[in-house]
Amino acid sequence: MQPYTVKLPGREFQSEALGLRDALTESLNRNSAFPFHRLFDFMSLSASNRELEMQMRARGDIRFADGAFENVSDDPIDTVVRDVDSQGNNIELYVDTELRGRANRTGAVLGLVFESANALAIVDFLPPALGFGNRFLAAELTFSDSKVDFLLREEDEPTHQLVISLDLRLSRNDVETEVWTAAAAKGLTPSFSMVATEALVDGPCCGGRPRPRPRRQCVNLHVKVLIEPSLPIAEMVEATRQLFADRGLPVSLLTTEQLNLPQFLDLPVGTCILGQTTPEQRQLFGHRTSVGSTDIAVYFVRSTIPAFAGCAAHPPGQPSLVVARNADIWTLPHEIGHVLGLTHVNDNRRLMTGNGTYNVVDPPPDLVQAEINTMLDSPYSIPC
Ligand SMILES: [Zn+2]
Repeated sequence: MQPYTVKLPGREFQSEALGLRDALTESLNRNSAFPFHRLFDFMSLSASNRELEMQMRARGDIRFADGAFENVSDDPIDTVVRDVDSQGNNIELYVDTELRGRANRTGAVLGLVFESANALAIVDFLPPALGFGNRFLAAELTFSDSKVDFLLREEDEPTHQLVISLDLRLSRNDVETEVWTAAAAKGLTPSFSMVATEALVDGPCCGGRPRPRPRRQCVNLHVKVLIEPSLPIAEMVEATRQLFADRGLPVSLLTTEQLNLPQFLDLPVGTCILGQTTPEQRQLFGHRTSVGSTDIAVYFVRSTIPAFAGCAAHPPGQPSLVVARNADIWTLPHEIGHVLGLTHVNDNRRLMTGNGTYNVVDPPPDLVQAEINTMLDSPYSIPC
């Protein structure tokens, strides 16, 4: 797969960038030390972020020896470069306590290849249409006479490569972007990140098809069994797990408890509207042994009154749902969808069909990206 390239103007940094290349080459020739922070100075990063500058300087020197280099420190760099453009975007930068790699030269081209994949950049400003996530590991840094290329690999998908290419011949005056103007108007020191707008990106990607961002949030379930349903609970949980796993929502069943509560076997649920619950629902949902405040309690009952396959109405702060004995295989994930903020659609290809999940066609049922985003943003899907 071809790397995706973001081209950025860099003429303003030309002398600094070429000076950096020459200084690195000299250190390499002499097998000598090189101040770590200088790698970043030419991008004006340190000038616009005092905390970052101090951390860069605290990292001391890169040691070159026989084409290999290392930078080992007690202090990792763990910094957010805040508000880098008018949109309020951030770059988070993590460099672990060890940074090692190899250097190579071909004529005027100097390359640094990072062998320990421990420099991580979290980039806010990539256009979603790119289809990449936003977490990248530093792979290579290449200096030539005309450009400086940062090759990054997506953390979860190393075949997804992003090159941030600083073109040393291109001036920012060559690039008409509102973002740049806005950044200048705010009195910010222009850095490469400020001009990474959609207008500037080109290159092949994804066959034009957006991919879900590989964001990940975990969903924890606790099963409370008043009566065993017709379909095995394990099958329903497995179908749920498979359906949500591909969408960045790993589902875990944490505990299973048998409840002897015959008075709630046929549970009145009223109109089963989100936020409205009956006294019986509230009493049943009070049985939350082992259930964390952001975990979802699933109660298997004989029936609801009136009869639904399931119902996800629950009191605030007590994420709960019921599944009736006659539920189908998609009832559990459908009700979890409700608890995570989804509403009905009139489309029987989708999980959230309002026509009953027993009418689902072309299984497994679909979840659209907006629904996935809603679930990822729910307080009941948690970082994992
Ligand atoms: Zn529903």
